[in-house]
Amino acid sequence: MSYQHQYVDGTRIHFPVGKLVCVGRNYAEHAKELNNPVPSEPLLFIKPASAAVRDRGAVHYEAEIAVLIGKPLSRQPNDEEIREAISGFGVALDLTLRDVQNRLKDKGHPWEIAKAFDGACPLSPFVPGDAVEDLADIGVRLSINGELRQDGNSRDMLTPILELIRYISGHFSLQPGDVVLTGTPAGVGALARGDQLVVELPELCRFETHVL
Ligand code: ZN
Repeated sequence: MSYQHQYVDGTRIHFPVGKLVCVGRNYAEHAKELNNPVPSEPLLFIKPASAAVRDRGAVHYEAEIAVLIGKPLSRQPNDEEIREAISGFGVALDLTLRDVQNRLKDKGHPWEIAKAFDGACPLSPFVPGDAVEDLADIGVRLSINGELRQDGNSRDMLTPILELIRYISGHFSLQPGDVVLTGTPAGVGALARGDQLVVELPELCRFETHVL
């Protein structure tokens, strides 16, 4: 179940996969499609390293821009410190057992088992942090069986990337190997057996997977 981060050229990244810190409802259109109110501050949750494997599909898909942390960050770092700590950008699938999540949410219970199970976060290889110039213009796309289902851009995030990482590190210190998932754009839905998925940051990185 262990998985090593790597760059798109196949180079392995020396630090192990750490925790995956995620944000819910970071795109207004996505909050709307699930009939969720837009939160007044970022809604954070964590997936363990054991969720980060490739080649496992299931349930509901959410394609998200993933930011690989390469230096420790804690207590409200400034933009420059955050930028320097970013080792890579990749794309992730935040897989969600939506029925289980809704059942637990209705009861006001934590919904980790719907989000943090083994294989719940397939990740692409990363492009180096300096491969992206404008953090407010990163595309993210997901297609299923050749049909485009999600087509988002970081410019539509309610909490932009640097601000989000600052907020997170005020609550959870980030370590090399940790990955921040930045929320999903509209277009989420259920997966069916045999579906072929292509998940990408156009012109940067991608991965393909299918549902067993
Ligand atoms: Zn998500």
